Amino acid sequence: MLDEKLEPIYADVLRRNPGEGEFHQAVREVLDSLGRVVAKHPHYAQGALIERICEPERQIIFRVPWVDDKGQVHINRGFRVQFNSALGPYKGGIRFHPSVMLGTIKFLGFEQIFKNALTGMPIGGGKGGSDFDPKGRSDNEIMRFCQSFMTELGRHLGEYTDVPAGDIGVGQREIGYMFGQYKRMTNRYESGVLTGKGLIWGGSRVRTEATGYGCTYFVQRMLQTRGQDFDGRTVSVSGAGNVAVYTIEKVASLGGRVIACSDSDGYVVEKDRIDLALLKEIKEVRRGRIADYAAARGSEATYVQGGSIWDVPVDVAMPSATQNELNGQNAATLIRNGVLAVGEGANMPSTPEAIRAFVEGKVLFGPGKAANAGGVATSALEMQQNASRDSWTFEATEARLAKIMHNIHDTCANTAKEYGDEGNYVLGANVAGFTRVAEAMRAFGVI
Ligand code: GLU
Repeated sequence: MLDEKLEPIYADVLRRNPGEGEFHQAVREVLDSLGRVVAKHPHYAQGALIERICEPERQIIFRVPWVDDKGQVHINRGFRVQFNSALGPYKGGIRFHPSVMLGTIKFLGFEQIFKNALTGMPIGGGKGGSDFDPKGRSDNEIMRFCQSFMTELGRHLGEYTDVPAGDIGVGQREIGYMFGQYKRMTNRYESGVLTGKGLIWGGSRVRTEATGYGCTYFVQRMLQTRGQDFDGRTVSVSGAGNVAVYTIEKVASLGGRVIACSDSDGYVVEKDRIDLALLKEIKEVRRGRIADYAAARGSEATYVQGGSIWDVPVDVAMPSATQNELNGQNAATLIRNGVLAVGEGANMPSTPEAIRAFVEGKVLFGPGKAANAGGVATSALEMQQNASRDSWTFEATEARLAKIMHNIHDTCANTAKEYGDEGNYVLGANVAGFTRVAEAMRAFGVI
């Protein structure tokens, strides 16, 4: 049940954003946590503050025409939701996936507001994307699409305005094509306009690894609160992207044993542990699938086509694929099999039923907006390096990331305690993120 002050706000969100289920889900989760805040501090329910946070400052939708290798013209739809700039320029990734619609970008942008606030860095929240499907497209097709996308989006960006980065389907290659096009359009080498850049053209060390490493640090800190660590623990990591790969790398370096990983076709279970060098070679060099990895492992591993990676009994589960990939039933299975901790590497990978099961089951549950904030935090470190025309070492950058993740953890843990629900990181993340944004907005008056 929602707090009675928050019920009409949620009803308005439903009315104003019909059919955008993922956005409703993300808003609902935050509002569920805010009941305790408005009870303790009624001023947060005044001045339509929460209503304003739920309404994007600006939503941009545009046509993206492009020509494929056969000379055929295609049309996709591009989006940028500039959700909230109370704490800094809009900041958030760009997603290329056929499932992308306005509601997807709104949910991601909304999550991003609180995630970015939790990092403690001067970045607002935004997100962009397109329903373009990069699967099977040639390098030239990707380039032409990125150029066309940026031709329209570019006018809305700027290092003090809006700073995109990658997300699903957008990595360093795509950021390169977009940065090149922006540079050409503006005749400015404005490094701070995009993050996730290549190292020799303004990128930051550790950015590629950051989300996976950061999520692992977050889970490590959660385990420490119960006197435990990764050493000897079995771990499963879903997802085919760099979040999953670098989660596996960092977990392994802390002594964890990653026994299962997946992509959208299926999952693999190892007798002993994932062969990281082979996995990287297949994913990063060959751009292959988990089925290829499993075939190369021979009798060391078993490949399960379809099915759910969450059926594999593990101590720690790290969903790092996409939204709603882990449902209530999966959560019940993990809990039955004795899961200790769950760290969300993806954005909103657990359904509301799954979250409820983990929280009620006293599983250490690190919600995405806290646990996966290492990616965007390192983007903010990239912006810092760009602003000072500097480039830090791997060690210095990783040390900053580790500190930020530990701070985020402690902020969430302390806030949950302060609000009477110790160990509830969902409550802690939502309340701590909201409070920072709300305080800045109150300072600005009604805008
Ligand atoms: N897409 C990432 C996220 O979900 C990173 C965004 C960024 O670096 O701006 O947080």
